[in-house]
Amino acid sequence: MASVNLEGITKRYEDVTAVDDMTLDIEDGEFVTFVGPSGCGKSTTMETIAGLTLPTEGTIEIGGRDVTNLPPKDRGISMVFQNIALFPHMDVYDNISFGLRLRKYDQEEVDRRVEEAADIVQLEGMMDRMPKEMSGGQRQRVAIARAIVRNPGAFLMDEPLANLDAELRVHMRTQLQRLHRELDTTIIYVTHDQAQAMTMSDRIAVINSGVLQQVAPPLECYNEPKNLFVAGFIGSPAMNFIAGEVVDDGFVSTYANVDFDPATQGVTAGQEITVGIRPEDIYLAENAEKAASPTKAFDAVVDVIEPVGKEVNAYLLFDRDVEASAEGRGEGQLLINLAPDTEIDEGDDIQIVMDRENIHLFDQSSGEAITHSLE
Ligand code: ADP
Repeated sequence: MASVNLEGITKRYEDVTAVDDMTLDIEDGEFVTFVGPSGCGKSTTMETIAGLTLPTEGTIEIGGRDVTNLPPKDRGISMVFQNIALFPHMDVYDNISFGLRLRKYDQEEVDRRVEEAADIVQLEGMMDRMPKEMSGGQRQRVAIARAIVRNPGAFLMDEPLANLDAELRVHMRTQLQRLHRELDTTIIYVTHDQAQAMTMSDRIAVINSGVLQQVAPPLECYNEPKNLFVAGFIGSPAMNFIAGEVVDDGFVSTYANVDFDPATQGVTAGQEITVGIRPEDIYLAENAEKAASPTKAFDAVVDVIEPVGKEVNAYLLFDRDVEASAEGRGEGQLLINLAPDTEIDEGDDIQIVMDRENIHLFDQSSGEAITHSLE
């Protein structure tokens, strides 16, 4: 087990800054996930921790030891990657034990560690199988067992579930959580999939364009996103945004106004702000009592209804003149979640309310959150 500390890590490739001045302290035994869109610098950060690439600036400590310039093998870490590189001509036992045998561990110790690791990832009885006789999930478990036997201070996992089908991915997610609990070891995990990040991690580190945006427990990122980027990235379906301006008695925009006293929210008249509201915090006006503190009602038109089983996603337009954007939710479009038995049809005129307790305000120029509740 080991803590991992990044201090001012920057990685530049000619004209690209892949990682920009990243400082992050990961505690011993913590499960931290780097999450962000493709190309945001997650893998590069991981590669600097692993020692596969050297940072342009900054230092990395693992277990309190400066490893910035050490080769991967001397860092006390194990890695599991998206592409599972098992030796095709070796059976499971040989694949798992390869690193130990290379390091000349005695046979008894090798057997003990392989057995223990195979037990953790539930591969008992499969020691003689060849990789080609196994499913994708089983092969990925062999790769994880191979990482476990080295008894590392920290596991580095880069999209290890990306090549698995959806059902297996959910299953492996649970397995990884169990693994973390049993080994009580530090895990640093990379994914672009915010659902994986939300479900497994003690903390998530949200990255955009090489810059760390927020490092916090998943629900804190969800309930109190630090800025517009985190608000829009964490949560599926994503938060709704309405851009407008502060006036003397609250917020005005083309389609919706919300009353509040600017002074109590720390904003001033004339300031350009964005209201953020999650789909589950908007209600039909007839159910306004379900909101802890409903706003006044807004008119809307139902554009598209999307039943997803336990709920219905309803895409709304603030009025009939709004042009539905083909790329995500544009200006004047909203998404709300409704109970599956709600009687509602495409084209209906409806009224909605928002829950003031869950209205987020963001400053448009900085993108920073101002408040997460108007009450
Ligand atoms: P992610 O893992 O979040 O998808 P990466 O860390 O792979 O992102 O990449 C971050 C940025 O750095 C991207 O713009 C990518 O094109 C660039 N990059 C990564 N590796 C190299 C490299 N070896 N040479 C040049 N640019 C690179």
